[in-house]
Formats: sequence, C-alpha cells, structure tokens
Amino acid sequence: SGKFFVGGNWKCNGTKDSITKLVSDLNSAKLETDVDVVVAPPFVYLDKVKALLTDRIEVSAQNSWIGKGGAFTGEISVEQLKDIGCKWVILGHSERRHIIGEDDQFIGKKAAYALNEGLGVIACIGELLEEREAGKTFDVCFKQLKAFADVVPSWDNIVIAYEPVWAIGTGKVATPQQAQEVHVAVRDWLKKNVSEEVASKTRIIYGGSVNGSNCAELAKQEDIDGFLVGGASLKGPEFATIVNSVT
Ligand code: 13P
Repeated sequence: SGKFFVGGNWKCNGTKDSITKLVSDLNSAKLETDVDVVVAPPFVYLDKVKALLTDRIEVSAQNSWIGKGGAFTGEISVEQLKDIGCKWVILGHSERRHIIGEDDQFIGKKAAYALNEGLGVIACIGELLEEREAGKTFDVCFKQLKAFADVVPSWDNIVIAYEPVWAIGTGKVATPQQAQEVHVAVRDWLKKNVSEEVASKTRIIYGGSVNGSNCAELAKQEDIDGFLVGGASLKGPEFATIVNSVT
C-alpha cells in the first residue's frame, strides 16, 4: 500500500571524503522511478549532501528538537531542517531509545512538533530480543505506536518503520514471514485505533540487516512497503539494489 519507500540511515558514519563519494555513487545510480528514496546523513553533512544530491533523492535528519530553537545546546530545530530543504526526520529509532534513553513521551513530542511544522516523520518501533522471546513483540510495538498515535495531528506525512532491535546491525535479518506478521499486526492496530483509511494508506517499512541479497524476498511480502537501511546504505550500488527491489 502506498508508494515503495526506501530510506538510508547513515547513522554516525562517514567523513567528508566518503560522503562525497557516496553521494556521487547515488547520483549516478539507476533508480526505479516508482520509489520514494530518502537518505539521512549525520547533521554536520546534511546541508552539503542536500546541495550535492540530485532532486531524485530527498534528505532526512536523524533527530530533531521537541520545539522551537533557542537555548538548547547541541540540538537542531525543525525550522533549521526546513531551512536547508530537509523533508524528513527519523524519530524513535532504537539507538535513541535504548542507547540515548529517549522515552515514548519525548519521542511523541518531537513527532508532533515536526509534523505540525510540515516535516515528514519516519516513526520507528520495534522489540528487543528478550521481548520477542517473552512473546511481547506485539505489546511493545503497539505501545510505541500508540505513543505516536496519541499525539500526531495527522497520518498524512508519517512512514512507520518496524525495526526489531535484535535485527539491527547484527546481520540477523527477520525472515520475510516474521516481518510480514508484525506489519500485518501494525496495520490491523491502525485500522482498529485510527481508521481504515490510515491503515491502508500508511506505509510500513522494515529495517534491520536489510542488504542487497535479502531485500527481494522481503519486498515480496504484501505488507512490506519499503525499507529503512543502515549499514548497506553506506554503499551506493547496494543501496540502489535495495531501492530497485520494489515489486
Ligand atoms: P542495519 O541495516 O545496519 O541493520 O540498521 C538498520 C537501522 O537501524 C536503520 O535505521
């Protein structure tokens, strides 16, 4: 449902040199037309990447502040992101939840503010290994989803990224069945708790050890509407393969 969406989350990686090379590889890659393609460079390179990239690819931030800018040392405001032509922000990523310690409420504030200001939000959810093993996958995902649903002004500009934490950066990709099962449950939750229309229109993308070899099988799943890619997005040709796995 919806246009296939592939995001590259570069995380805290890259140098001026490696990022210039990556952008030039992306600019020369042949990308299927019917896919939204977005890359999220580290803040320090965001403006440069936006300027160097072709218009075919949008840029995203990896974080944003909860409100207007001001005396908030180290933060970046939504207004500043819009000022440089950034269209998206990734919020609720597991690394920010579990390493930095952001909670549902704080993430919800960021999402509401960004959406109200017209930025698109890539809203991440996903369970830890111990939560999956305890049979709590759906509970955890629904709780994180509800925290977004409770505060967002509308769903027009949101992409949901299901990223099981045990699959992130581990090389242990979810099986197509495991991913599909959660995507269906998420869509069903949206249907019951938001609306049928939002459930059918909202793109639910998968993230966690997606690469050029496993993307095709995942992309075939009915409810997988794209990917959020970490490691493999740092290689232009492999990222292009993932973009082109659209079915
Ligand atoms: P990897 O693709 O490196 O597992 O990272 C996934 C991710 O966290 C994307 O946001």
